[in-house]
Amino acid sequence: MGQRMQQGQPMIVMSEDAQRVKDKDAQEHNIAAARAVAEAVRSTLGPKGMDKMLVDSLGDVTVTNDGVTILTEMDIDNPTAEMVVEVAETQEDEAGDGTTTAVAVAGELLKNAEDLLDQDIHPTAIIRGFHLASERAREEVDDVAQAIDPDDEELLRSVAETSMTGKGAELNKELLSQLIVDGVRNVTVEGEDGQPIVDLEFLKVETQTGYAVDESELLEGVAIDKDPVHDDMPRDFEDANVLLLDTSIEVEETEVDAQVNLESPDQLQSFLDSEEEQLREQVQKINESGADVVLCQKGIDDLAQHFLAKEGILAVRRVKKSDIEFLTEIVGAPVVSDLDALSSDDLGRADVRRSHDDELFYVTGEDAHGVTLLLRGSTDHVVDELERGIEDALDVVGQAVSDGRVLAGGGAIETELASRLRDYADSVEGREQLAVEAFADAVELVPRVLSENAGLDPIDSLVDLRAEHESGNARAGLNVHSGEIEDTFEAGVVEPAHAKEQALSSATEAANLVLKIDDIISAGDLSDDEEGGEPGGPGGAPGGMGGMGGGMGGMM
Ligand code: ADP
Ligand code: MG
Repeated sequence: MGQRMQQGQPMIVMSEDAQRVKDKDAQEHNIAAARAVAEAVRSTLGPKGMDKMLVDSLGDVTVTNDGVTILTEMDIDNPTAEMVVEVAETQEDEAGDGTTTAVAVAGELLKNAEDLLDQDIHPTAIIRGFHLASERAREEVDDVAQAIDPDDEELLRSVAETSMTGKGAELNKELLSQLIVDGVRNVTVEGEDGQPIVDLEFLKVETQTGYAVDESELLEGVAIDKDPVHDDMPRDFEDANVLLLDTSIEVEETEVDAQVNLESPDQLQSFLDSEEEQLREQVQKINESGADVVLCQKGIDDLAQHFLAKEGILAVRRVKKSDIEFLTEIVGAPVVSDLDALSSDDLGRADVRRSHDDELFYVTGEDAHGVTLLLRGSTDHVVDELERGIEDALDVVGQAVSDGRVLAGGGAIETELASRLRDYADSVEGREQLAVEAFADAVELVPRVLSENAGLDPIDSLVDLRAEHESGNARAGLNVHSGEIEDTFEAGVVEPAHAKEQALSSATEAANLVLKIDDIISAGDLSDDEEGGEPGGPGGAPGGMGGMGGGMGGMM
């Protein structure tokens, strides 16, 4: 690709339709696109952030405050903007929270980089400076972070509540944060080195509409949304023997399509009898094993249903594969695939209860290794946004337990970092020093936007914050309700250190990725993205933003 000189003649190796933007133009183009994405989520940051309403091409509506959800639903088709969306996705995967922060900081890094480029500072110097600053920031986060006692429930609840603020979950944060902390503690085990290990795979979140949020609960087990296969089956058992089955209770199908030629009615009867016999035998085996409850991933023949009911066995069919796998942790037994080899050792134990209210089977047990957070809310929109908030909170509480380090939020850590990075910049030689300073300024975007979104004066807030940090109060952050500066850690605004480190590194990586590009060679037309060029303007604004209304009124 590109052009090469051959004996003084430029050799054209690109097709005629191909578009090319180089150097400064390429950087400006990319920075504008990336910043547009960052601007789009900024107003949702923090407890006073607003929500976005996203309407997809089918008219389905999502109302959310969650950075990664906004960006993935936005249907962005600008390649640079997509790189920023990837930052949010990485952040979501790695930390589960802090996506808005990561994207907003990436945008601010690029904005500040643009100023440096205007001063003719070479992109490689900026990239190096950002990299240095990011490494240093991680060290400083570690230095500022406080160790957490995994048994300190109150602190863990604060971590959950901080993550939920500004989200749909906030209105019921006392109950929900308690459920989250209990849930995480249920799936925490002690590792070999005594370090707690949190396995959120054993914590399932299920949602149900038509209820009040405060009816949400934590089950030491799982809820199965299925009916019994037969009306005459019992529905409630205490300490039942439970069989988990992943084969059907049906007449065995022949391998190939077989044709049976019947010559007399007797033959037909004996053919049917043999089928009935097979089913009867299968049920017999289940009954002999001592099973009270059969949870089957596949189908159960009508006749078998009838036999099971006669034996007083509760059977449920077509249970989801994931539920069956989860159930092995609840009942403490493996999944059975072969009824011929079934013995009583293959059965697990659990309490099984049918709730008449919500028509769910609750399978619970004292020794259950899995728990289910049953999230309830009035409508799908409410429950969906609740679930996003809860998933984030579960991740951060899990992290706080396993990583063991937490920080003061509300802009406290960012102000402290900015101040420490400015000190560090003095020791950096060359033009990289300016990039380190630009990085420090970019990190301060967080308290600035928190203040802005709360309707406060960001300059006043920043001046006050800096003064507090100068005088040695590293946990001074913004009280977004009063506008005062306070010890946010004491006030219960607590975040896990790992998510913050991750947010800073992914923001830096994204910014550096964009800065490294000095040449855009496109097979298609770039002009759509080019005109405008202003962040947030039609140029930078990636496709799909047209469907995005302003705030639907976040939680106040
Ligand atoms: P993200 O997607 O980055 O997690 P959020 O909208 O969840 O974005 O906002 C997180 C920011 O809000 C963090 O900087 C956190 O410290 C701050 N925050 C959360 N709760 C409070 C609070 N009660 N007071 C002040 N700041 C808060
Ligand atoms: Mg958050």
